[in-house]
Amino acid sequence: MNLVFAAPATPTIAVVDSNDRFPVRRIFCVGRNYAAHAREMGQDPEREAPFFFSKPADAVVQGDHRVPYPPLTQNLHYEAELVVAIGLGGREIPSVDALSYVWGYAIGNDLTRRDLQLAAREKGRPWDFGKAFDNSAVIGPVHPFERVGHISRGVIELTVNGKQKQKADLSDMIWPVPDIISILSRSIALQPGDMIMTGTPEGVGPLEIGDVCMVAIDGLGSISTEIGPKAA
Ligand code: MN
Repeated sequence: MNLVFAAPATPTIAVVDSNDRFPVRRIFCVGRNYAAHAREMGQDPEREAPFFFSKPADAVVQGDHRVPYPPLTQNLHYEAELVVAIGLGGREIPSVDALSYVWGYAIGNDLTRRDLQLAAREKGRPWDFGKAFDNSAVIGPVHPFERVGHISRGVIELTVNGKQKQKADLSDMIWPVPDIISILSRSIALQPGDMIMTGTPEGVGPLEIGDVCMVAIDGLGSISTEIGPKAA
């Protein structure tokens, strides 16, 4: 068999303090997983089942890389998120077993073209143009759970140019990590390399060219992303 052109390399994320890399298979994202953020987006945060959207694996960009301001938007937003890195495949995983499928955790920034997302939402259309663009999945190095434990609480915060914009506790999640894994695994077979962005707290807002956006999570350190000029 001959491929008609060279297959693209598998996107990877650094493993902290290591030369190893975590191969990224898919990126799933949870919508509205903090009540105060659901409210600021004009939604009722009642505990209905979580919903998911996806980003392409090759939308991933390392946490400390410069990201060009994306096309088509006038309103690029940051979203600080805990990212779960899946190391074991499975389907219909009970919540009580879910953490054994976790390889590690990372800090994420779910970059969003908010104007396109809201326009799509208004018309009942898919969120892809708002959420699934090049370099939209900022993910810092993966911390193996053997080193950091399973993360269910602790401060998550985000600053833009040193000014605090988001601050919450991971325990404020409406759906904690084991439930997210369990619910997602009833829809699709989870595979090693899948990553799950677990939703953002309140305080989302815009990023401009030249801004430096830092996200920190207790136990995982911080990542810092500069927004560069639009790609030529
Ligand atoms: Mn998000």
